[in-house]
Amino acid sequence: MGSQEVSNTDWRGKHVTVAGLGVSGIPAARVLNGLGAVVTVVNDGDDDRSRAQAAELEAQGITVRLGDGATLPGSTELIVTTPGWKPDKPLFAAAAEAGVPVWGDVELAWRLRGQDGREPAPWLAVTGTNGKTTTVRMLASILEAAGLRTAAVGNIGVSLLDTVLGDEKYDVLAVELSSYQLHWSPSLRAHSAAVLNLAPDHLDWHGSMAAYVADKGRIYEGNTVACVYNVADAVTEELVREADVEEGCRAIGFTLGTPGPSQLGVVDGILVDRAFVTNRQKQAQELAEVADVNPPAPHNIANALAAAALARAFGVAPAAVRDGLRNFRPDPHRIEHVADVAGVTYIDDSKATNTHAAEASLASYEPIVWIAGGLAKGATFDELVTGCAGRLRGVVLMGADRALIREALARHAPEVPVTDLDRTDTGAMSEAVREAARLARPGDTVLMAPACASMDMFTNYNKRGEAFADAVRALAAESA
Ligand code: ADP
Repeated sequence: MGSQEVSNTDWRGKHVTVAGLGVSGIPAARVLNGLGAVVTVVNDGDDDRSRAQAAELEAQGITVRLGDGATLPGSTELIVTTPGWKPDKPLFAAAAEAGVPVWGDVELAWRLRGQDGREPAPWLAVTGTNGKTTTVRMLASILEAAGLRTAAVGNIGVSLLDTVLGDEKYDVLAVELSSYQLHWSPSLRAHSAAVLNLAPDHLDWHGSMAAYVADKGRIYEGNTVACVYNVADAVTEELVREADVEEGCRAIGFTLGTPGPSQLGVVDGILVDRAFVTNRQKQAQELAEVADVNPPAPHNIANALAAAALARAFGVAPAAVRDGLRNFRPDPHRIEHVADVAGVTYIDDSKATNTHAAEASLASYEPIVWIAGGLAKGATFDELVTGCAGRLRGVVLMGADRALIREALARHAPEVPVTDLDRTDTGAMSEAVREAARLARPGDTVLMAPACASMDMFTNYNKRGEAFADAVRALAAESA
């Protein structure tokens, strides 16, 4: 079974190894088993949970090998891997040696679309270091406003396999793809795709920035109508130039400035399209107002333009772009307005789990009392602090790696008052909010954009955001 074969292969009797029990491995094993493949699941762990999962799969006739994710079963013709498994694992070296192709969960979904004989829905795909979920949800909102049957799926938390095999009929899908998923998707061909931005992330997995960028760039391979890039991020344009696309596919840029021909951009507070118009040398089409974007922060306007570009590439009318953006509500913990207390605005951007994301929200307000800290995941903070130093009223630090931020502040913003709570317990958030309230003056914004992961203090970024919102509400109740 070479990786070039078509989607609706006859799976009966094919020996497929599924790498990893988990959210993508278990459904993949079940589906392939249902199609008649001979499925073996291999898994590194051998704990109570995986034993229970294994028992369920074995009852359906699937073989499961626990505690050995490294050995390639001898008869394997194809590996379907959990996207999170690192490419340098011995299992993949053995697969390369044996000439066995490796697919991720997205590749499997791509291959199985149309399996039931129905015309498969085209994919509008989005990747990037930050803003993927927001952009994909904006895109789905626009497509819905255009009366199309659609869904926001993929890395956003909705299984592509379930979507393509489910009963629901779609006209088009808004698909979020991670760099891991793209790495393992050799034959995926989107109708149109966007790379929003590129900053160092997950480098331990990919091995280098070059490898990370190359995996992101795979999203453009074989696009038929548009490759959407960020004019402000030259690497994204470079990736478009290198991509092997279908004849007639166009490079479409988005910019926060005035758009050139074949670009979408902003003129006098209006989002305009100078790409999908009859005369792009002379004409521009109004799509929406900046105020229609929620929230209208610069990075989010960029997300809206990317979503609009993909929708326009699919033929959506300008009014639907506007309506879709107006209808869009951001997911929680992404620059979420919590409350105003004593003239101070409190914003929860708990999803800012890396410095690139925090940079975007810190650029959106002024003056700011910044609540930061957590797990740095190897990041440095000099650039972030240098960029926002002039906007800071004060800083409150907590979490395991707070010293890294404190030291960067001492180097680049020595005049900004910093309170180091010296705490890593969950309860520190309420002290952080009180301290921020003490530092803030009316008209200021208290921004919880930690630039770090949350797991040192909280179960996840949702819990961190909820703790912040609870603390702000308690403050509001006291001052009422
Ligand atoms: P992703 O799905 O890529 O993680 P999200 O839409 O969930 O992206 O946003 C994650 C965080 O990244 C948000 O908290 C926000 O502050 C920041 N962000 C969103 N869009 C952008 C962008 N275009 N550029 C930089 N940062 C962004």
